[in-house]
Amino acid sequence: MTDTPPPMGRKSHGRLSISANRQPRSLMDEPPRIKGAWTAKIVTLFPDAFPGTLGLSLLGKARELGLWALETIDLRPFGIGKHHNVDDTPAGGGAGMVLRADVVGAALAQARIGTPQDRALWPVVYLSPRGAPLTQAMAQRFAQAEGMTLLCGRFEGVDERVLEQFGIEEVSIGDFVLTGGEVAAQVLIDATVRLIPGVLGNADSAVEESHSNGLLEHPQYTKPAEWEGRAIPEVLMSGHHGKIEKWRHEMSQALTRARRPDLWAQYLQKQGKTDAGEA
Ligand code: SAH
Repeated sequence: MTDTPPPMGRKSHGRLSISANRQPRSLMDEPPRIKGAWTAKIVTLFPDAFPGTLGLSLLGKARELGLWALETIDLRPFGIGKHHNVDDTPAGGGAGMVLRADVVGAALAQARIGTPQDRALWPVVYLSPRGAPLTQAMAQRFAQAEGMTLLCGRFEGVDERVLEQFGIEEVSIGDFVLTGGEVAAQVLIDATVRLIPGVLGNADSAVEESHSNGLLEHPQYTKPAEWEGRAIPEVLMSGHHGKIEKWRHEMSQALTRARRPDLWAQYLQKQGKTDAGEA
């Protein structure tokens, strides 16, 4: 029998590197990674949920190119006893189960290996409905780090002590309750990775879109020029860039004012104006 060489680009060589993982057999399925590429380490009971939507389209392609990387750390092998139990009943009684401090702690300790201790360089986040609401500014902060660790909860959540012990930041993706943190982690990673230079084909699209300047985006149109009796606004067909810019900015402002009074108020404050328009 002859040894078949590994598929191109899947081996650790040159500027590509692969870091240690509890499940070496999965290394062969993992894309290569550029040394120092932004990395998400995800502690989860459901590693199969990843990459999920993060494996598609631009983000998936960028990951295949090694521009960012994803590592899952399965909570189950850290479980206690023959059945690898990861959860138990809440102290003080009540419904549901809570992820154990010792189990989650061991998984987080594993995730910490080889990562900077400075939270600015390597944020550690627990996805949680109690957390600070995820914003574009937060995604920008995460994108500037070297990578981050994300803890996905299940059941009633995780033992509070582990959050304190590891200096974990709680982040929410909105005022509703999900069954688990996996979908929320994908939301956070999507919002973050698309801000990493080189990931989006067109860098300008991340500069001009909703929330990047405190305003919602203007309406977009494409072909056909007329559809179901509806024409594209004339100014967009004029070829006059100045007028187009002005129209888009006005539409952005009108939309933000109508739909998101909270963002509009912040925007005006930044411009040093009140809603009456005085400077
Ligand atoms: N008992 C908890 C909710 C647990 S929901 C509470 O009332 O606060 C189970 C898990 O889903 C959580 O541990 C968290 O990881 C995830 N989750 C649920 N809603 C979320 C949200 N809005 N944002 C981020 N993560 C969420």
